[in-house]
Amino acid sequence: MREIVLEKDESKVPLCSACGHKLGHYHDRYSMEVKHLKVFGWTASLVFFREKRHCDVCNKVRSELIE
Ligand SMILES: [Zn+2]
Repeated sequence: MREIVLEKDESKVPLCSACGHKLGHYHDRYSMEVKHLKVFGWTASLVFFREKRHCDVCNKVRSELIE
């Protein structure tokens, strides 16, 4: 099993997945496996990290919005 980790675009501002407001301080991140690809007999999983940040509007820790 191979993993392909998708790198994050650092210039992108993380937005709240609930209200769309800009998120505040970094809280945590977790990996998400999105897809299994079969290429030439290999199975690869596509992985990216999703951040959790504090949203001032929701006053909660929210996951960033994934487009
Ligand atoms: Zn919010």
